[in-house]
Amino acid sequence: MSRILAVGLATLDIIHTTEAYPAEDAEVRALSQRVARGGNAANTLDVLAQLGHGGQWLGVLADDPEAERIASDLRERGIDCGRAAVARGRCSPVSHVICSRRTGTRTIIHHRDLPELTPTRFAAVALSGLDWLHFEGRNPPATLEMIRDARARAPDLPISVEVEKPREGVEALAESADLVLFSRVYAEAAGYNDGESFLAAAPARNLAYCAWGSEGAWLRQPDGRAVHRAAESPRRVVDTLGAGDCFNAGVLHAHLSGESAVTALEWGNRIAGAKCGQEGLEGLGTVLPPA
Ligand code: ADP
Repeated sequence: MSRILAVGLATLDIIHTTEAYPAEDAEVRALSQRVARGGNAANTLDVLAQLGHGGQWLGVLADDPEAERIASDLRERGIDCGRAAVARGRCSPVSHVICSRRTGTRTIIHHRDLPELTPTRFAAVALSGLDWLHFEGRNPPATLEMIRDARARAPDLPISVEVEKPREGVEALAESADLVLFSRVYAEAAGYNDGESFLAAAPARNLAYCAWGSEGAWLRQPDGRAVHRAAESPRRVVDTLGAGDCFNAGVLHAHLSGESAVTALEWGNRIAGAKCGQEGLEGLGTVLPPA
């Protein structure tokens, strides 16, 4: 069993499934509603825990009832969140999500009122015994400091960074990681409309992946060669919320299992595709070979 520390967000998601995406100013009835713990880093750890890995989440929690719900969900899934910082008097981050049955898209409205995790807090967390360190690429200057600290304290610990959105300084963050997981949103914002040409120019010095929704994903190997693998489509696309987080978990799981980068690309697509065929993240642990 590997141990992974993931730094990023844990949120509460309020998810409505509708027949189709509503028009502005419309009133529509949802087909269903569910409330789930979300957040990219927390979701990735959730799936890695299902695949047999030990996870620790580090981020900031509020001190409202929603935060207790988030923390108890993480604990139930075997994820240690005991080192999280607590921001008193603040609200937990909440995402309102509309999943459209017609297209399988998920539209997210996110509200966040929490301070970011500080490098000082990160410095107080032991890195010994860890096999992997994963960061959501947010708050680039502070995260870069955390990566430098981790390199100094644990030079052999592999570090991955998820780059989901364009943010000032996120390129330096990507270049400091051993493995970068880019999103289509970031690639398109940078002016590219396919993963291969994006990755050829992407700010990454070693391995880089780029997930591209129903078109699958690309990999750029350290020698610069690009590899594409098609998405592994479920019989019916039910819910794509968290597909990217599952892709990331599949990639990390393969690397932690000593598999090749191409296998990691395939495992990312396989587990993300399986996720798209179901609501939520439950039961994904059997999709890939166990740890
Ligand atoms: P997110 O929007 O959650 O960040 P993406 O939409 O880029 O993530 O999807 C991540 C991965 O999920 C893709 O690389 C692919 O493997 C899988 N995926 C996404 N949408 C579909 C789909 N409609 N059918 C099959 N697989 C999908």
